[in-house]
Amino acid sequence: MNNKYNPFEQFQENLDKASKVMGYDYNDYAAIRYPERELTVYFPVEMDDGSVKVFTGYRVQHSSVRGPCKGGIRFHPQTDIDEVRALAGWMSLKCAVAGIPYGGAKGGIAFDPKGMSQNEIKKITRRYTAMILPIIGPERDIPAPDVNTNAETMAWIMDTYSMMHGYTIPGVVTGKPISVGGSVGRTEATGRGVMLITKSILARLGKSVKNVKVAVQGFGNVGSIAAKLLYEEGAKVVAVSDMSGGIYSEGGLDIPKLLSALPKGKLLSDIELPYKRIGNKELLTCECDILIPAAMENQINDDNAGDIKAKIIVEAANGPTSTGGDKILEKRGVIVIPDILANAGGVVVSYFEWVQNLQSFSWDEKEINSRLERIMAKAFANVDTIATEKSITYRMAAYVLALKALVEASKLRGIFP
Ligand code: NAD
Repeated sequence: MNNKYNPFEQFQENLDKASKVMGYDYNDYAAIRYPERELTVYFPVEMDDGSVKVFTGYRVQHSSVRGPCKGGIRFHPQTDIDEVRALAGWMSLKCAVAGIPYGGAKGGIAFDPKGMSQNEIKKITRRYTAMILPIIGPERDIPAPDVNTNAETMAWIMDTYSMMHGYTIPGVVTGKPISVGGSVGRTEATGRGVMLITKSILARLGKSVKNVKVAVQGFGNVGSIAAKLLYEEGAKVVAVSDMSGGIYSEGGLDIPKLLSALPKGKLLSDIELPYKRIGNKELLTCECDILIPAAMENQINDDNAGDIKAKIIVEAANGPTSTGGDKILEKRGVIVIPDILANAGGVVVSYFEWVQNLQSFSWDEKEINSRLERIMAKAFANVDTIATEKSITYRMAAYVLALKALVEASKLRGIFP
């Protein structure tokens, strides 16, 4: 992270603004401005060539006031403590907005898995799990996938945790493969939630999703599934990108064809495609109705917020818009559906997976998707009501909703001892 952009400071700034809207005293929410617990670990791993590398990992638990902590684990070279702190804080808010009984956490290891063997990634994951083991668990803190981690990573975490306890404990992570206690619908859940929220805001504005022009930055788990589901709903997905760059077609991309042409682990630049190539900067400012950032933080900021052509931004990524970018967008009348609402579908179905694990019972996809749809619709309606009543942005309304829930729970529990 550069010195200018600190995601955790932005989290606190928005929290302070929301507390002003609510008329709270500093004492009411002071503890929510900080994480409850942070663990930084340094651990050695023997690489395939026999050399030893020392890795840095983090697990931050922001709040357990409303329930066990919950949040993903990312593998990324730029991951640092401020990023993980912010991501953990946003998880607490997201769970409160969705109305699920969790607090927030997040974890990360600062490394780039690209170019590493599966064996090396597996060893890094297992050793990191062993290092954070004292603070995770089904009743304590439940990790899940995030950037550069997936169902397989979760299976390794679950196995490591189980081996150290002597019996199988599926509920320690969510987003697992189905054959080891994962839930149907979890892989698609975040993208599905993004699609549902996109439809909700369009309906709220009296518009249909048919032929609406969508651009998606980030073509990983969240971005590719959001693009596919929106395509299936009749939207015209005009541009997508990944870290290698993007593609654009005014008439719309054939997303199912694109997905089947893209081998697992490959980037858009690795394959021949009949579309115009664009850079990631161009994607953000391309001609479209809806922009869906689904990659990393701070993509929309003071430098480019003035050039964005989309009238609606649906934040599939966590923290893609800086507070400076937000101010410019607000002034320009661009509607921003914030991350803590827009991408909550993932943690909602993670919650379903955890509930199924605790009950040793499984629900079918129809049940998962209809429960997800109900929760997302309710969360959108609650945020929309606050935004309308208080004449504030959707981001501020979502922060207000979450802060209220966290303050209420904190007050009811009181300050220990
Ligand atoms: P992923 O690793 O599956 O995909 C990330 C994608 O972003 C890849 O296509 C990568 O190439 C691309 N990317 C990386 N840097 C980029 C850049 N600078 N410009 C353009 N593209 C870039 O990760 P994911 O799970 O899809 O997560 C994406 C975002 O969604 C993150 O902000 C994550 O925190 C958030 N999120 C994920 C989940 C989930 O369930 N996986 C849930 C909620 C929120």
